[in-house]
Amino acid sequence: MSAVALVWFRDDLRLRDHAALQAALKAGLAPLPVYIHAPHEEGTWVPGAASNAWRHRALHALDADLRARGSRLHVFAGDSGDVLQSAAASTAASAVFWNRRHEPAVDQRDIALRRRLRALGLRADAWSSGLLFEPWQLETRGGDPFRVFTPFWNAARRQWNPMPPSPAPQRLPPFEALPGETGIDALGLRPAPGWDASFWRHWTPGEAGADRALDSFIEEGLHDYSAGRDLPARSLTSRLSPHLHFGEITATRIVARLADAGSVEERRAYVRELVWREFGRHVLHHFPHTSEADFNPRFNDFPWAPPDPRLLRAWQRGRTGIPLVDAGMRELRATGWMHNRVRMVAASFLTKHLRMHWLHGARWFWDTLVDADLGNNTLGWQWVAGTGVDAAPYFRVFNPVLQAQRFDPQGDYIARWIPELRGLPPRARHAPWLAGAAARGHIGDYPAEPVVDLAKGRAAALAAFEHVSAGR
Ligand code: FAD
Repeated sequence: MSAVALVWFRDDLRLRDHAALQAALKAGLAPLPVYIHAPHEEGTWVPGAASNAWRHRALHALDADLRARGSRLHVFAGDSGDVLQSAAASTAASAVFWNRRHEPAVDQRDIALRRRLRALGLRADAWSSGLLFEPWQLETRGGDPFRVFTPFWNAARRQWNPMPPSPAPQRLPPFEALPGETGIDALGLRPAPGWDASFWRHWTPGEAGADRALDSFIEEGLHDYSAGRDLPARSLTSRLSPHLHFGEITATRIVARLADAGSVEERRAYVRELVWREFGRHVLHHFPHTSEADFNPRFNDFPWAPPDPRLLRAWQRGRTGIPLVDAGMRELRATGWMHNRVRMVAASFLTKHLRMHWLHGARWFWDTLVDADLGNNTLGWQWVAGTGVDAAPYFRVFNPVLQAQRFDPQGDYIARWIPELRGLPPRARHAPWLAGAAARGHIGDYPAEPVVDLAKGRAAALAAFEHVSAGR
């Protein structure tokens, strides 16, 4: 029997296009698939309830795919270094391979771990995780990291050369159980009964589910992506974000599948969004503090409002009285996902009209999104709040009523998620407090007035921003 390589699965829960697995096979080593549950090693961003719920199912899907090939997932809980060291000793492994994750706390852990394993005489190597570019690969002409997306995108297009994706292995060798192994169900990833029950009408975690999502996007969404991606009532985006986060599909594989699909313009519009995801990783790699703090230090003195638990709760529960915001927050609660346009509007409302620091929103998204992703979540929140790289200026305050009129003109999205407003005529759904008293009789216990007057909230945000501008 050939020597063994431990292949450490993390956020790369797939068999296709898996560089670490391929590296083991190419080196003539027998790959032993290992998964270690170690939430305490994730820094301050310990995975939330929705992430755990997804991971539970994705691990089962990966295990089933491995079993279909003669192998299985060997599952552990505990200190990653201790587990890998003991698994390597009990199988006489000569190597440990994994794919990179690109999150600051995890990167630090991995560097220390590689040193420890190498000191034991093991080959310990990290491989590309299926990004189009490693986060350090693109740089400005001056050799600096990018702080603005468009030049990053232009550099990506100039240096475009994605790796061709590799196939899944046909067969993998079996291994006996290792000392200390546990099972996926024992990891405690499943949330309280019922919490996520409504999610799974919308999602199928795992590599096959990711493939089906990509197929249906190519058939139904790609042709109208650039115009339709902003319309939350229509399902024209790919909904691949959780599959991408958990590495059930890679950006390189998506790009290869799109090569002859749709028109050049639509394809480019879509790939540009994938490159935003790469930009998020680039920024987090070069500015690791930004998952915790404003990228722009001018905001250090910004007079954020102290978090009012009543207002925060109204935002979280979809009861602010602003229909587009509430529809988004309810979509999030029911499905673990929210349309990108509505994420922007909901985030803007929290950070501008309610003037709460973006971290309050980022933490809630982190706990409730199935696609919670440190690079993208940080980028999205800091972009909306005006505190980040290439951010929308703080003074550009989204008006959630105008946004609803423009992107949900018939109020279909609002009606889908707020049943209380279905009885209103379509256009009254954007701002029910402006509808006549008779119409308002139909909205049940939906808030009759918004939690904040939009004009006053905007004015207060702009006055607060003066404080920052004055200190320029
Ligand atoms: P598509 O439109 O089909 O795009 C394809 C892929 O490109 C996405 O799956 C995603 O990986 C990437 N992408 C698309 N838009 C963006 C973007 N604006 N920034 C970075 N990457 C993008 N995305 C996450 O994956 N995880 C998060 O935690 C997250 N938090 C966000 C928070 C806020 C406040 C905002 C404004 C955006 C956030 N996003 C996040 C980005 C974006 O909303 C989602 O990636 C997108 O809605 C996912 O749906 P989709 O797969 O159908 O996207």
